[in-house]
Amino acid sequence: MSEAGPTDQTAPSAALSGRMPVVFIGHGNPMYAIEPNRYADAWAKLGRELPRPTAVLAISAHWYVAGTAVTEMAHPRTIHDFGGFPQELFDVSYPAPGSPALAHRVQHLIDHSGAVPSPVVADTRWGLDHGTWSVLRHLYPGADIPVVQLSIDRRQTAEVHLRLGTALRTLRDEGVLVLGSGNVVHNLHVARLGGEVSPFDWAVRFEAEVRRRIDSGDGSSLVDLPALGLDAAQSVPTPEHYLPLLYVLGAATPDDQIRFPVDGIDAGSISMLSVVLG
Ligand code: ZN
Repeated sequence: MSEAGPTDQTAPSAALSGRMPVVFIGHGNPMYAIEPNRYADAWAKLGRELPRPTAVLAISAHWYVAGTAVTEMAHPRTIHDFGGFPQELFDVSYPAPGSPALAHRVQHLIDHSGAVPSPVVADTRWGLDHGTWSVLRHLYPGADIPVVQLSIDRRQTAEVHLRLGTALRTLRDEGVLVLGSGNVVHNLHVARLGGEVSPFDWAVRFEAEVRRRIDSGDGSSLVDLPALGLDAAQSVPTPEHYLPLLYVLGAATPDDQIRFPVDGIDAGSISMLSVVLG
């Protein structure tokens, strides 16, 4: 894709059109940040269709730590948190500004929600990891919209992550795009990156089940993974790529329109399902 260029001025402003949608993106292979592929094409199209946000609050699978933190820096660095990829990928920079004001707003909302026992930490060391920039590079190639990341506290239950999403819902009325970046099916033990492989049946079934529940307004039932059976256990062997979806579902409202800009199982066991609510 081309380097950062001028912003698409045709996108309507969130301030004019009311509440921002909430978005979950299945990010998959880091190479999709730079290689032509149908998923990134769908993300770019989505970026042109969405109202232009005042800022992005990203919840990425790749900031999965013992605590809830928000990036507070004015200029977050681009983190290349992977190994074994071409230099071209390490050379990518996504120089979007941060937003200390949004970081403080997130701290306030979460601290007052009572969802987690400890105050949200204002972080000055993280930045934008590849779960965030590999997607935003396509959604907002101009890198001119402020971005704040929120960590996922690995000590909390799925219910808590859903509640944290609900605590952030009001940001939608302030023009902020709440963006979850993960994968609803993410089993790297059996994945074959870059290969032409058939998807596993359990991966296809679980992606379809997630989609069906969201579509029928029953997204909050997705917090109970054990109740979703063996397909869920194989699709979500570790929770970090699944949990960003719960933030997005928590920030959704019953009157949100639901659409799925792109879906499909990549590398046999990685769902590229994306969801827009609003
Ligand atoms: Zn990932």
